[in-house]
Amino acid sequence: MWAELLPIGRSSASGGYRRFAWTGADADCRAWFRQQAEARGLAHEVDRNGNQWAWLGDPAEGNAVVTGSHLDSVPDGGAFDGPLGIVSAFAALDELRAGGASFTRPVAIVNFGDEEGARFGLACVGSRLTAGQLTVEQAHRLTDGDGISLPQAMEAAGHDPDAIGPDPDRLARIGAFVELHVEQGRALDLSGDRIGVASAIWPHGRWRFDFRGEANHAGTTRLADRRDPMLSYAETVLAARREAELAGAVATFGKVAVEPNGVNAIPSLVRGWLDSRAADQESLDTVVGAVQKAARDHAAAHGVDLDVERESFTPVVEFDHALRDELARILGSDTDLKVPVLGTGAGHDAGILSGRIPTAMLFVRNPTGVSHSPAESATEDDCVAGVTALADVLEGLACT
Ligand SMILES: [Zn+2]
Repeated sequence: MWAELLPIGRSSASGGYRRFAWTGADADCRAWFRQQAEARGLAHEVDRNGNQWAWLGDPAEGNAVVTGSHLDSVPDGGAFDGPLGIVSAFAALDELRAGGASFTRPVAIVNFGDEEGARFGLACVGSRLTAGQLTVEQAHRLTDGDGISLPQAMEAAGHDPDAIGPDPDRLARIGAFVELHVEQGRALDLSGDRIGVASAIWPHGRWRFDFRGEANHAGTTRLADRRDPMLSYAETVLAARREAELAGAVATFGKVAVEPNGVNAIPSLVRGWLDSRAADQESLDTVVGAVQKAARDHAAAHGVDLDVERESFTPVVEFDHALRDELARILGSDTDLKVPVLGTGAGHDAGILSGRIPTAMLFVRNPTGVSHSPAESATEDDCVAGVTALADVLEGLACT
């Protein structure tokens, strides 16, 4: 499976993947998924929102056990983020069927569309539409960097954009969704475990900081006369790092815009975006509150005006406790794997669906912790351990 999948959408320049929603590379990934389904005699379907499903058993029976992930990528993403969950799902199903497993519930493998949001700027579009967390009107307004709208892109790829919308009947037929994913951090590497179970997705948000000063000549303006917003911005970046360390959280200024953006001009505006995430709401509030206070203090000291606006926010997602405990029990019972339960700072389709159906996640160790980069990695032994764990989980949930 990897041999066929790895060349698709790979940039020879960076070695990373560019599999953006509704592009040619995405279509090639989807063709691969369909082939894998049909080669196994699984019923293949594409739902109204462009998510792909491969069914073993009759979905109409309900209480289905679903596993899978996504095949799209961020710009120059790694090989495992998403595809590992789908390859492992097919491999786990193969293992169970080869062992003569007898299924008591329908099982499906899913490829959620447009998980990374690399093209239209919003993550998890396929699962959000399905869960009704993104309205049709909002989806129709999404455009990519070339001004192509989501409906235009869908239509060009052969998907009917008028069909999109909430899919409560589909969700009602699913009893559990388990997503296997490469870990996007080093917790398992540090604990020495191959496999972990997710406890929660950290609350996270984005805040825009506008520091406004006065543009002037970089050569002729005395230091004492300047109102330079770059200075207060720089001190705020350092404060974010300090406050995140104190709270055991993360805080990142990863995007910045400067006006007039000239080498020989003192800036009039520095606009920076803070992304911050923490294990709980109180820690996140503490970090963001302290960063805002530092920004205000430093802005005042430099005669700079400050506006802060929260642009997006996602509260904590607690995965279903009963399903999580069931996974830990299944994985602990007949192996001596001890299964650590981890929080994660990254969003996933499983997080979107968790408000509607019981969901859980399995993580596979990533020795460097690097993700959203060509350097993302997982060893073959760990990937095999992931398949075995997923097969155990599917057997425990869906077989007699
Ligand atoms: Zn992912």
